[in-house]
Amino acid sequence: MNDVVRATRTNLLGLEKAELEAFVVALGNKPFRARQLMSWLYKRGEGDFAAMTDLAREFRAQLSEHAIVATPEVVSRHDSADGTRKWLLKAEAGQAFEMVFIPETDRGTLCISSQVGCALDCAFCSTAQQGFNRNLDTAEIVGQLWLANRELGFEPGGQRRITNVVLMGMGEPLANFRAVVPAIRIMLDDLGFDISRRRVTLSTSGLVPQMYKLAEETNCALAVSLHAPNDALRNELVPINRKHPIAELLDACWHYIDEQNGRSVTFEYVMLDGVNDQPEHARELARLLKGRPAKLNLIPFNPFPGTSFRRSPAHVIAAFRDALIQRGVLATIRRTRGDDIDAACGQLAGRVNDRLRVRLGDKLIGVTVQ
Ligand code: SAH
Repeated sequence: MNDVVRATRTNLLGLEKAELEAFVVALGNKPFRARQLMSWLYKRGEGDFAAMTDLAREFRAQLSEHAIVATPEVVSRHDSADGTRKWLLKAEAGQAFEMVFIPETDRGTLCISSQVGCALDCAFCSTAQQGFNRNLDTAEIVGQLWLANRELGFEPGGQRRITNVVLMGMGEPLANFRAVVPAIRIMLDDLGFDISRRRVTLSTSGLVPQMYKLAEETNCALAVSLHAPNDALRNELVPINRKHPIAELLDACWHYIDEQNGRSVTFEYVMLDGVNDQPEHARELARLLKGRPAKLNLIPFNPFPGTSFRRSPAHVIAAFRDALIQRGVLATIRRTRGDDIDAACGQLAGRVNDRLRVRLGDKLIGVTVQ
């Protein structure tokens, strides 16, 4: 189907339940038709209106005329020796973003992107090097999960291969708030993908005002890219910290947990050799997080071309974890997956034509990140 035809039809994967109801009502149908449609779309993974046999013929004809079920197109697929799969997905004009499936014995996690590139300029992240092109829309975010289910051989009523979704691919999800929140709602909706709220995780580098808004609008699990225990170091590694320092960030985290009656925030902490992995860093971290609803996830740094950071040695990472646990802070080490196909954390580069050219690290003021 060509782009012009697409543009004149509504992509149903971008509509939350209430919006889908409004859409079917606008076509002159009863609102409950939206439920039937959602059941076809999300319970059976069906995208062909002609196959939706319990819908009236006339309604199906209307849908073919005015609606479409379209996912991002696959540019290429890559399989890791450890079972991790990565897809390069088409944006436009030769640009692409990435999605990763990580199978484990007791679950399967899909890591999806929210933007083509990223503007946040974290020093140790490969996506940052690519710059920023644009936000993905809701249908492109939901479409990743829909597509992955198909790619992985989804069968209606069968066992789910994707049990968890993490917004940890390319982009800063809270900088694309208006598209990301509806996408999360569709994932959680029992008429949608019906994933438990503890199994959909949004990870942010710390856009504090949007974290407060998130607490009002949805209740998925929250992960925060902390990476440093003090402002001096975090200012260098995660430049958004210059705008929203650690104390402010942590307040927003505890507020989210209170509002959502959540269990804990997962703090991501990339282990950079000689930079943030010393015993005093563990002590500082413990002081910040002890007694709080917090879990620390230590991520061994994944290298990419052009970086001068190095991964902390395994024994340093283990000692760091133990120092935290001794001080009463829950800490685990994230197992590296998919690094042989550049699918590990921070290695997603896609193909991005940088439209912003000004990174947050250079100029904090004047860059809109919403
Ligand atoms: N922009 C959001 C979502 C990305 S999540 C965020 O920053 O939270 C991806 C996680 O991998 C983040 O915690 C990110 O900081 C981390 N990461 C980035 N580059 C990395 C690298 N080279 N090695 C390991 N982890 C990295």
